[in-house]
Amino acid sequence: MRTLRSYVEGRWHQADAGFVPLHNPCTEEPIAQASSAGVDFGAAYEHARETGGAALAGMTFAQRGELLAAMSKALYQKRDELIELSTLNTGVTRKDAKFDLDGATFTLSYYAKLGKSLGDRTWYAEDEGSQLGRSPRFWGRHLRLPRGGVAVHVNAFNFPAWGLAEKAACALLAGMPVISKPATSSAWVAERCAEILVESGALPAGVFSLICGSSGDLLDRLGERDVFAFTGSADTALELRGKPNLLSASTRVNIEADSLNAAVLAPGLDREGETWNVFLQDVTREITQKTGQKCTAVRRIFVPHDEIDEVQEALCERLSAVVPGDPRDAEVTMGPLATERQLDDAIDGVGKLAAEAQIVHGTGERVDGRGAAPGKGWFFGPTLLRTDRAADVIHRHEVFGPVSTLCAYGGKMQQAAAEVGRARGTLVTSLYVDRAADLTAYLAAGGSTSGRLYVASSKVAAQLPGSGTTLPAMLHGGPGRAGGGEELGGLSGLTLYQQRVAVTGDRALLDRAGAD
Ligand code: NAP
Repeated sequence: MRTLRSYVEGRWHQADAGFVPLHNPCTEEPIAQASSAGVDFGAAYEHARETGGAALAGMTFAQRGELLAAMSKALYQKRDELIELSTLNTGVTRKDAKFDLDGATFTLSYYAKLGKSLGDRTWYAEDEGSQLGRSPRFWGRHLRLPRGGVAVHVNAFNFPAWGLAEKAACALLAGMPVISKPATSSAWVAERCAEILVESGALPAGVFSLICGSSGDLLDRLGERDVFAFTGSADTALELRGKPNLLSASTRVNIEADSLNAAVLAPGLDREGETWNVFLQDVTREITQKTGQKCTAVRRIFVPHDEIDEVQEALCERLSAVVPGDPRDAEVTMGPLATERQLDDAIDGVGKLAAEAQIVHGTGERVDGRGAAPGKGWFFGPTLLRTDRAADVIHRHEVFGPVSTLCAYGGKMQQAAAEVGRARGTLVTSLYVDRAADLTAYLAAGGSTSGRLYVASSKVAAQLPGSGTTLPAMLHGGPGRAGGGEELGGLSGLTLYQQRVAVTGDRALLDRAGAD
């Protein structure tokens, strides 16, 4: 069985105790083990801060961009191997593995280009500034300066490559060394990504470290210059964001937590039109892609009450074509859930939803997977529920699997916006709408309850990537229960890792000092 290692202080560390097993979700067989026992977290932190920090401080944005480009290239060159490993470690189909890996390499290369465009600088002014005195001589502007600390990244299990890469891209480009901790259940993929990066020779000493297993007392060491970026469940986030040292030092904390994302079908769409088609296609994919284990998956589908029967029929027909099973079988279109706990949580979660909504597709129970031994594997079929009345639990409970609920609304976009808002903040809401008046009504009534609005209409239907695809140029994060965090979004993705400083003084002096 493979024993995963951590990469700290510029070398690989293998524990000899305290192991947690990783399983093949299709067979339930143990395939690897992870532990961070014996890691000296104090030394790991200092190495990153001093050695990695100094290396990045000596590099311009353009040079850091070259580093990201080399990281992207190294991972891309091992794409096929990583796809195989993802399937073994997390049970994903090849298509879903590519989604994770291509997301990782694309985001790295996006930020590599951004670094190139920022050029031979290590910081910049974010605005031209304002006149503050009687004459234009007394001037003020805001600078984005490096913070000088360490970025600790704790990631969720569902995107072992993308999660690692998207956070690392922003931190490294901003000039902050990274210590990344993947979720243990999918840490083999993250460990292999780290090995590839180390072997590529692209990483200057100390700029990137990896912890496989527990993060030990690493988070307790973070102070005022550091950043803690977390992706995972709201419960874990609540526990970690309240650590006394993080609060007392005002450590930057960014939380990406769970999210009851919504899709809204505007009333009266043409059944022959592209918007209607793209709605059915998107929603089906967002329920089943990565077996619904996506923070951006659609959990609630809002449909005008007089159209809900038709939508239910069309969605059930599409979901019937989904084949859950072991992705090594060519007929399989959806893999298992990643762990036994995820399966138990999904069964329990559908039970909760079914108290207020009716299951109209699927069983809410484990199923046998095609190509897998009977009774083995954490398989769960696509499940659709429906509610025509004001259910409550669907706005409170996230089932992290291929599960979504169809909900009727009165047919006015303001009503849909109010229903979407009941989840108290989401990452993404997709709007299927062709009339500007409907979009205006939604924006005015509740546009700000989601971090991202994905507006699907007939004129752009052919170009849409799907509402669950996070694009590096656009913000990822959402208010309220989605964690309140902000990641990516082009240049603004760097701001978490920079200090914003207001500088006021003689404009000519500021310009000559490079603060222009
Ligand atoms: P999780 O159980 O909260 O774990 C997330 C991460 O936190 C893992 O790396 C886990 O490590 C670590 N962790 C748990 N307890 C910890 C502690 N006391 N100290 C330090 N680290 C700790 O979440 P998950 O099951 O991996 O992911 C599923 C959830 O993530 C879903 O709710 C989903 O919505 C959310 N998610 C959100 C986003 C987003 O961008 N908003 C993206 C993906 C997923 P171990 O694995 O070693 O326990």
